[in-house]
Amino acid sequence: MPYYIGDVIKDERSLIARTPEQFKKSGIDVLLKTRAEQVDHEARIVRLSTGATLPYDHLVVATGAQAVMPGIPGQDLPGVFTLRTLQDAVRMKSCIREKDCRKAAILGAGFIAMEMSEALSNLGMEVELIQRDTVAIKRWAPELVEVVLRTFAEKRIAFHVDTRATSIEMVDGGKLRIVTDRGNIETDLVLIAIGIRPDVNMAKELGLAIGDSGAVRVNAAQQTSVEGIYSVGDCCEVYHRVARRPLYFPLGDIANKQGRIAGRNIGGRPAVFPGIVGAQSFKFFDLELAATGLSEEEATRYGFSPAAAIAWGPPVARLMASEEDGETGLKLIADRSTGLLLGAQAVGRKDPVKKINALSVALWYGARLDEPAFMDFAYSPPFGGPWDLIHITAQLLLRTL
Ligand SMILES: Cc1cc2nc3c(=O)[nH]c(=O)nc-3n(C[C@H](O)[C@H](O)[C@H](O)COP(=O)(O)OP(=O)(O)OC[C@H]3O[C@@H](n4cnc5c(N)ncnc54)[C@H](O)[C@@H]3O)c2cc1C
Repeated sequence: MPYYIGDVIKDERSLIARTPEQFKKSGIDVLLKTRAEQVDHEARIVRLSTGATLPYDHLVVATGAQAVMPGIPGQDLPGVFTLRTLQDAVRMKSCIREKDCRKAAILGAGFIAMEMSEALSNLGMEVELIQRDTVAIKRWAPELVEVVLRTFAEKRIAFHVDTRATSIEMVDGGKLRIVTDRGNIETDLVLIAIGIRPDVNMAKELGLAIGDSGAVRVNAAQQTSVEGIYSVGDCCEVYHRVARRPLYFPLGDIANKQGRIAGRNIGGRPAVFPGIVGAQSFKFFDLELAATGLSEEEATRYGFSPAAAIAWGPPVARLMASEEDGETGLKLIADRSTGLLLGAQAVGRKDPVKKINALSVALWYGARLDEPAFMDFAYSPPFGGPWDLIHITAQLLLRTL
């Protein structure tokens, strides 16, 4: 959606993965503009907003997530958006065009806020980010975040940390004013991107067990605590193989896999969802940011005693490196007592996602840090040195364990 708003993707129809007609060909009826109002699981019936009822044998709760709102006056004013659905994206793009918006303010500094700041800036708009925390991109090592902050400065995107928005007001000429504890910001458009929470309203009505994360608890077959009811996607938890517990990890690739597992189990071809290691990535202008496993703070929370090291290196052999390639920063986190690899974060222009995917495989199989320190990676000068940045960082960290 950020790429649609930023005009990289021109036609919103290309964002529709499958139309109701295409679903129909697979024997699936899609009821658009229809809300499941109430479920009677005893009678196995769903009551719809159209007044109709739908009988079922198995029920899948896939209600997704809702945007967290700041709870401030003015958050519902015209020109203030959240970005959850394609309709949100279409509304926002039309508003930018119709009002000829020149300036946008974004509350939040997570991956959606970052992607949107790039999209809006590429449209030629002035962009300001407002972040309540004192640090930017909280989960990340400050040394790696430094690179992102430099990009903000280069792109002239203002980034206000430790700043709390207290209200949004409509001012003359249809403009908006964000009142913060550090002064006011005038803008044409506001995007609220301060996080999401699982939509568990229906799950609670059905009496489904909710996990510590606040999302629906499921087993590896995607079954909930109530027989005959499954749950998948952003409304439910997922087993994290490194943390060794269910966590809330609302990402699209996970939702897809969970859906397939639930479908197979319902269809009589049993399957289990093996869990995740927390791999994630996003692009910010010419930077790739990617992470996997646990951060140090998360590792401590889940009972590990983490140690970490950061190393930097070019994405090609040093002799061939140009300024354009920049340097990739890689942080590795390992457990002092077991030597297990726990997590990784990377930022750079060319290869962070590749590195993080390789490390995700290592995490998936429960690697100790000494394994990636000598793991066999493909080497030729256009793609790096004989000692990959993963080897270098792992060996640096091994020396401290
Ligand atoms: C801007 C943006 C960028 C993203 N980028 C990435 C990315 O790069 N990589 C990634 O992995 N993930 C990304 N995600 C996350 C990804 O989109 C979600 O994880 C994924 O869409 C979750 O799918 P879902 O089906 O669980 O929930 P949703 O897609 O939210 O679908 C839930 C649906 O249920 C409907 N619903 C709820 N209650 C009812 C009811 N009672 N009756 C009928 N319908 C109901 C909702 O209207 C909604 O349509 C992004 C998300 C956003 C918003």
